[in-house]
Amino acid sequence: MRIADVRAYALRATIPRPFGQSQAFGNARSAVLVEVVSDEGLSGWGEAGAGRHQEPARHFVDGFYRPALLGEDPLEVERLWEKLFAILVTSGLTRGSTIQALSGVDIALWDLRGKALDLPVYKLLGGAFRQRATAYATGLYYTDDADHLAALREEAAGYVAQGFRAVKMKIGGASPREDLRRAETVRAAIGADTHLMIDANQAYNAFTARAVGRDMASLDVGWFEEPLPADDIDGYLELKAALSMALAGGEALYTRFAMREFLARHAFDIVQPDACNTGGITEFRRIAALASTWGVQVNPHVWGTPVALATSLHLIAALPPTPPCRVPTPLYQEPVLEFDQTPNPLRTDLAVEPFRLRDGYLDVPQGPGLGIELDHKAIERFRVA
Ligand SMILES: [Mg+2]
Repeated sequence: MRIADVRAYALRATIPRPFGQSQAFGNARSAVLVEVVSDEGLSGWGEAGAGRHQEPARHFVDGFYRPALLGEDPLEVERLWEKLFAILVTSGLTRGSTIQALSGVDIALWDLRGKALDLPVYKLLGGAFRQRATAYATGLYYTDDADHLAALREEAAGYVAQGFRAVKMKIGGASPREDLRRAETVRAAIGADTHLMIDANQAYNAFTARAVGRDMASLDVGWFEEPLPADDIDGYLELKAALSMALAGGEALYTRFAMREFLARHAFDIVQPDACNTGGITEFRRIAALASTWGVQVNPHVWGTPVALATSLHLIAALPPTPPCRVPTPLYQEPVLEFDQTPNPLRTDLAVEPFRLRDGYLDVPQGPGLGIELDHKAIERFRVA
């Protein structure tokens, strides 16, 4: 079997009401999908993390990776990862969009490999420790609602009613005092038995993050995510020493090389590699192996289409409890799945069967490859390039 084509699809959907976090506010969602086609007519699909900037990743797939992949054996996924990475190394292009694009290609190759071998990706990865993943709701962003606290209260209570046992809210987009009011509102709405996580998206310096963490400590925070700029290892270590709550980060770190110091110095309690950002399934697995060496929990960051969700579900299925114990518990030994609940037609409309929460869990897909079927008409509907 040989690779006959590699295609990148830039997708964009506008949403009726804008929302935001500490770094951005907007009314559109975007994604880059990658399709690798074999000469036997099989297609594997991957997703390249795009955020607000789709064009660089799409360009790298079309201009750099496609020519390097045509005619290659798509089953040799890890060798192909190294071949593509080698294109970047001497030019210093080993961060950001180039790695997001490589992630999309790598995930598509794993999907294709699973389809060719008629096995779900989690079996290719060595087997499932669990057939469903505890999902937490990501939402509770900043909105332009006239009564923002009432809107937060209603949204948070809605997640509990749907069966979520954990929710994550945004902070860092208002003053620490206003964010404390917002977090107190959410905690009151979800009750004591639902986990609450806070995510600053890199909005603070160490002294502000320390003050915010101390203010929020009484709210029983499950983890404090990206309190600091992504590269600030010493800031993370300082904060870890000062706060009792777990620190999480890593969604904006690319490849194991960027993760190495954070893991070796134990700067995170929880590392959150995003398979669509950090180098695909291949690199996520290497990062997870490193993390286990230093006892760091792995909870994947997920933000995107059903391709990103399915990829993360297979990866979670194959992650062992850390550390092993008799009753592995979500958020303590068991990995948990980030399930974005913000408005996004690219998450809800691209798969023939959208992912649905059942009893607080998402099921790991059982079909070959990633185990999802994409709606090609919907892809064309949202395609901008
Ligand atoms: Mg985050």
